Amino acid sequence: MTRTVRELLATERSTMSFEFFPAKTAEGDAQLWTALRELERLRPSFVSVTYGAGGSTREGTLAVTERIAAETTMTPLAHLTAVDHTVAELRHIVSRLAAAGVRNVLALRGDPPGADPQAEWVAHPEGLEYASELVELIRSIGDFSVGVAAFPEQHPRSPDPDSDIEQFVAKCRAGADFAITQMFFRAEDYLRLRDRVAARGCEVPILAGVMPVTNVRQITRIVQLSGQAFPPELADRFAAADGDRPEDKAAVRDLGVEVATDLCRTLLDEGVPGIHFITMNRSTATREVFSNLVGAAGPLTP
Ligand code: FAD
Repeated sequence: MTRTVRELLATERSTMSFEFFPAKTAEGDAQLWTALRELERLRPSFVSVTYGAGGSTREGTLAVTERIAAETTMTPLAHLTAVDHTVAELRHIVSRLAAAGVRNVLALRGDPPGADPQAEWVAHPEGLEYASELVELIRSIGDFSVGVAAFPEQHPRSPDPDSDIEQFVAKCRAGADFAITQMFFRAEDYLRLRDRVAARGCEVPILAGVMPVTNVRQITRIVQLSGQAFPPELADRFAAADGDRPEDKAAVRDLGVEVATDLCRTLLDEGVPGIHFITMNRSTATREVFSNLVGAAGPLTP
């Protein structure tokens, strides 16, 4: 029986987990599995697989999550969104995960399908409106450990910080065991969220989403996809390192590893319950940050 994230959080000082996405091509799939196998050696607390906007990548999420459960030593967490799904379909997917021995699900509303994640959100007529309803649905199906999304800079659709925190706490009270944040680059944004949630009496552990930047183009993409700002002072540092010489590529990567390492160190000093690395299906940068942390702080488990 695989462990639940709830159990891992109760026993590990800080969980260390890795996020992947299902590939669209055979080549991409090979890269994904190379990264998964390389990162398996670090014995992560768990690994997660994102849920695509539609079609084949959704089947890919289920297939990759099932294969992780069946063929690796790692504990899988399946992301699931309500986008374009009826409640009956969602039930079916959750039951399929349970049958494969997957016990952890990240319950998300999802973004509207298409190129613009900020486009109008329209619920399926026989589906769900908010992530909190998906949390309740998953809980009603079986003994899952359910996670939810958190937003250190508030969700882009929230009208103000207060209602953002209020809805987040309500989502946790619907039955979430843990939350994982959107990637962020300033520790103070995470700490502000954590303090505001705690001030409302909510003790759900909030794992920090961290992505080591490995090239400057990623920064634009991060802003587009997440609707979050990228700190200008950091953007300037990356722009200064970037250039056309072959060594500039390595310099940007090294800076990305350094920035992510510093962020993780601050978060660990602050007692973060876990760090969730967004790997982009590559292992090298994440492995470097991970070894910097383990080298400096000793084992991350008690
Ligand atoms: P909700 O919690 O439903 O919130 C959406 C908005 O509605 C917020 O503004 C909230 O304040 C508001 N709200 C919530 N409940 C109510 C209510 N009852 N009344 C009024 N307003 C309310 N997307 C994918 O497509 N696939 C993935 O795999 C994926 N993985 C992710 C992983 C992480 C760690 C994170 C942080 C995000 C991920 N996303 C993924 C993106 C996510 O789906 C989007 O950010 C989406 O816009 C919000 O999802 P949510 O679950 O936070 O929604």
